[in-house]
Amino acid sequence: MEEQIQRKDIRALTLDQLRDFFVMKGDKAFRGNQVYEWLWQKSAHSFETMTNISKETRNLLTSNFVINHIKVDQIQRSEDGTIKNAVRLHDDLVVESVLIPTRTRTTACVSSQVGCSLDCHFCATARLKRMRNLNPDEIFDQVVAIDNESRLYFNRPLSNIVFMGMGEPLMNYNNVLKAIEKITSKEGLGMSPRRITVSTSGVPKMIKKMADEQVKFNLAVSLHSAVDEIRTSIMPFNATFPLVDLREALQYWYSKTKSRITYEYVVWKGINDTQSDADALVDFCRFAPSKVNLIEYNPIDDDRFQQANEKAIMMYVKTLGKKGITATVRRSRGKDIDAACGQLANKS
Ligand code: SAH
Repeated sequence: MEEQIQRKDIRALTLDQLRDFFVMKGDKAFRGNQVYEWLWQKSAHSFETMTNISKETRNLLTSNFVINHIKVDQIQRSEDGTIKNAVRLHDDLVVESVLIPTRTRTTACVSSQVGCSLDCHFCATARLKRMRNLNPDEIFDQVVAIDNESRLYFNRPLSNIVFMGMGEPLMNYNNVLKAIEKITSKEGLGMSPRRITVSTSGVPKMIKKMADEQVKFNLAVSLHSAVDEIRTSIMPFNATFPLVDLREALQYWYSKTKSRITYEYVVWKGINDTQSDADALVDFCRFAPSKVNLIEYNPIDDDRFQQANEKAIMMYVKTLGKKGITATVRRSRGKDIDAACGQLANKS
């Protein structure tokens, strides 16, 4: 047991480190490339499956490393086709990821943290608190698991990824970026970053950092209100990262990337359903090409929050439309299995 604890997660190594390991052991550096391919391209769960590697080398790997592969513990299927995976990690913690099929796409919604660093009052995940950040390989594995399910159930590969599962991706920035690097590189899954969206509640410093690093994936911001007082009352961390800072960071993002910003927005009765709320939203986002997804509220047991009526939603669509901002009204998916936005809470 003690020995097991000391063995290192092999996927924490870079390709160069793996090549160095083999050289140090008197083998060829190229062996590192072979193993790396098994780990990231073929998503091997054990060293035994690495059939083009000698038994001796596999033993060497087994005595030095472990592969901390995730385990899909439970699969739930919704009547609308949505699939939710309960994913067990090597230390027995559990996160959830969701496969969302449409006629033309399969989207993976993946988690970035166990629990969440933030405290949004309307979100079930917030009640779990943050237990730890996911490692790059744990994020990568969720994507691979959903890709396999997409092929199995829908006869097509995964087409899109959204970081809209549990957790705040920008509070686990380095690992999320490393995972995306693996997902998009040809040594990994070779997916286009244009098909990936990172969703954040808005951490200004990290948005600027992403802009500086010229990342190629899409950015979505969970705004829900463009009025500080209201936003702070439902998303308390807004007191630390107020809207002026968020907006300044988004302006910086746009100036560097020229890439459109998507806002996620739920309209609640008596909270943000007036004309002046919609006007504030227009004012907030008109500095750059933007799109607003008006998402359906998925009730969690808190009486303060109730989905606004159709009239209020249409008022938003009209107000945004008049100023040339695209608004889409999103129906929830996977509600019956608690797989919809804000419902991920390891209930089962
Ligand atoms: N922390 C990141 C990633 C989570 S994404 C972020 O905040 O963007 C999950 C999305 O679902 C966010 O837009 C969040 O605001 C939204 N959401 C949370 N609870 C919800 C609920 N009960 N109903 C509908 N959407 C909800």
